[in-house]
Amino acid sequence: MAWNHNGSFFWKQLMAIRPYFQLSVKTVLRGGQNSLFWYDSWADSSMVFFAKNEAVVGPRAVSVAAALRDWFHIVPAPMTLLQHWFFTTAQTTHLTSGPDTLIWKWSSQGQYSSNSLYKRLVSAGKTNYMYKIFWKFKITPTVKVFLVLLSHRRILTQDQLLRRNINVQSHCHLCQQDVLETADHIFCSCPFTVNLWTRLNLQQAVVTDLSSLLQYLISNNQATSYTATLIATALWGIWLERNNRVFRSAGRSNDAVHNWIVQEASLFWRFS
Ligand SMILES: [Zn+2]
Repeated sequence: MAWNHNGSFFWKQLMAIRPYFQLSVKTVLRGGQNSLFWYDSWADSSMVFFAKNEAVVGPRAVSVAAALRDWFHIVPAPMTLLQHWFFTTAQTTHLTSGPDTLIWKWSSQGQYSSNSLYKRLVSAGKTNYMYKIFWKFKITPTVKVFLVLLSHRRILTQDQLLRRNINVQSHCHLCQQDVLETADHIFCSCPFTVNLWTRLNLQQAVVTDLSSLLQYLISNNQATSYTATLIATALWGIWLERNNRVFRSAGRSNDAVHNWIVQEASLFWRFS
């Protein structure tokens, strides 16, 4: 854990890749069934962020309706502040019926438009046709933003830190080998990841570098296919697992990560 002494810097960097989206939209709940508890901006986002980091157990892919109904199944017992928040929120959130909607902060009518988020994300750089395809994926917006940043190599792996003159020890926390952690390694060639791709039956997507993997992801021209959702969720899951290991020393087995990806992907698929 050679990186932890500089934690605030890294957290700040990590925050930079957290959803622009959550700053840009607010979810207006009706039935609470098509909003995701941990991902959508349906409540005070700082509290949700806190809860997400504290609640290390339980499914993350859960609708607002299900979480508020079964909140005690999700929250571990000793966390009083969190329990209090859940309790208060469950008491004060009145779900009705019908689909939840989004209010978009950046357009004059408050109408959500993924196109305006897209424009905002790429406004400083040149347009990348990948973004347009990612935007069609049936995944939660958080993962769409993650894919955009990943394709832009704005994920802070060890090689990126070295480029910023930050000294880090070459070590991959997924396979525990002393190799330089690059995006190509953790998402493609790391034995931990290769094992995951195989178990997900996505060997055909396994290639030696990330660019080819992303190319594969968009090349089948089936942005709305379940395979696209599954690959995108796997990339997201691998990155979360890596961050949990680096920053919280909380590693899960390959089996657990695999199950998490499958569960999360099917929820994204149904809800998006
Ligand atoms: Zn590795």
